[in-house]
Formats: sequence, structure tokens, C-alpha cells
Amino acid sequence: MSRIVYVNGEYLPEEEARISIFDRGFLMADGVYEVTSVLDGKLIDFEGHAIRLERSLDELDMAPPMSRDELLTIHRELVSRNGIEEGLVYLQVTRGAPGDRDFVFPDPDETPATVVLFTQSKPGLAHGPAAGKGIRVISIEDQRWGRRDIKTVQLLYPSMGKMMAKKAGADDAWMVEDGFVTEGTSNNAYIVKGNTIVTRALSNEILHGITRAAVLRFASEAQMVVEERNFSIEEAQSADEAFITSATTFVMPVVEIDGAPVGTGTPGPVSARLREIYLDESLKAAI
Ligand code: PMP
Repeated sequence: MSRIVYVNGEYLPEEEARISIFDRGFLMADGVYEVTSVLDGKLIDFEGHAIRLERSLDELDMAPPMSRDELLTIHRELVSRNGIEEGLVYLQVTRGAPGDRDFVFPDPDETPATVVLFTQSKPGLAHGPAAGKGIRVISIEDQRWGRRDIKTVQLLYPSMGKMMAKKAGADDAWMVEDGFVTEGTSNNAYIVKGNTIVTRALSNEILHGITRAAVLRFASEAQMVVEERNFSIEEAQSADEAFITSATTFVMPVVEIDGAPVGTGTPGPVSARLREIYLDESLKAAI
């Protein structure tokens, strides 16, 4: 059965979905995106993603193409039409297709945004073997642009980072700027020291993770101490535990950094507990 996707007001089999070659998302990476995970056929933290989408659009002088309720309806419709139990909904909004290539933004009254959504089924997302094993990361220089708080589709450097990790026999890369970890290629980065969780503070230098916000809230509620500050690769290598968060990995232990084991070199109890709390609480609130 072919997947049903959403393009500019229509639900279509993926083979029939079309966008213009003049689309600014294609020509200039002039677009933003969101990824919302699906567990038990329900959306996790939909509102957080919808709010961040509106913020990303606003930062780029784009108007929201539709209301939050309309977006929710499309998300639910795609989950239902594609029978997604575990997986994700990908959403992309670009500045549309003005019909020519021009650096100047087109008049939004003449060029409507392009809105595309599709699902990816990922059975075992929540309870697959990955979280029990943890991941290994390498460090790379952060060579992205300066507005990483906007969730744009400029994903070439993160993609290159994943390839550098793969070549080095690792699973992912943590990016480093001025001696401190910014974030993972597609996730936020944390270390654990005793009862304290350390992660970089919010700024233009990192994406404001929706999973990050939830996990820090749950950590505080569970009487853990949260320190939002910079940390280095060396500090991470000597921490008790390390982990990443994102909408599709939830809380994922990091067991090795640049070849050095973190703590015991196996997933630790704090990461495991936070993952469990995050999955439990998010499922309860899923819509
Ligand atoms: N940082 C970056 C660079 C990311 O790409 C992502 C995931 N898209 C995250 C952090 C995590 O954000 P979220 O928890 O909202 O998925």
C-alpha cells in the first residue's frame, strides 16, 4: 500500500505528490520543519512542536500557513490513513515557489507557502534494543550557521556529521564550538554527575528541543538538579553518564565519546530512569 502524504491542501499517494522546481525550500533551503513522534497511534508533545514551528516561521518573516487546529487535524489524518502505531510525522513549510529564482523574498500575497507532511512508520521506536545498548559519539567542530534556534531545513552539515561518525565507526557526532559542546547533529546533549544533569543553556547556538524542555521538567520533578551551562568533551568523558534527547530517540544513553567510555561504558541508571519517566508521562499526555 502506498503511503498517503499531504501537499498543499491535498492527501495523495506519495507517487502523485508534486512540488515546483522553483520551490525556495529546494533552491535555497528557505524552509522550516518539525518532527513529531507517534506512540500508540497518538502524537507526542504536538503543542510544543506547533509552538516552535510558529516561532521558526516568525523568525524568518513567514506567516503560519494554517491554524494549530488545522495542523493537528492533518497530523491525525495522516497517522490514521497510514495506520501508524509507532513512528513520526514530518512537517515542512517553505516560502513557496515564486516561479523564478531570486534571492529577494517573494510577496507572500502572491506566493503561498508550500506545506508538506508525511509519516514514517518505525515499529519498536519506544522499546527497541537501541536504548539498552546506548550510542557511541565522536566530536566534530560545529560549522553550522549562527541561527540554530530556527529549525530550518539546512541539514547538510548535520548530515555530513552523521557521515563522519559512520566513517569513524560511531553512531553520531557531538558538535563543539570554542571548546564546548553545542549539541548533537540532530539532538540535544547532556552529561550526568551524581544527581546533577548538565546541558547547555538555550541560546541561538542550539535548537530549543521540545524533548529537552520536557526532560528537564521531569528531572526537576524527580528531585534531580539541573544545571544549564557549557561543558567540554573532556568533562563529558569523565562524567558518570551522558545522553541525548530528541523527538524520535526520546532519552538515549551515550556510552562512548571519541573512543573513551563514559562511566562504566554501559547505559546508566539516570538516563534509564529519565527515559522511562519521559515515555510514561508523554504517553499519558499524547493526543
Ligand atoms: N538539536 C538539533 C540540531 C536537532 O535537529 C534536534 C531534532 N530535530 C534536536 C536538537 C532535538 O529537538 P526535539 O527534542 O524537539 O526533537
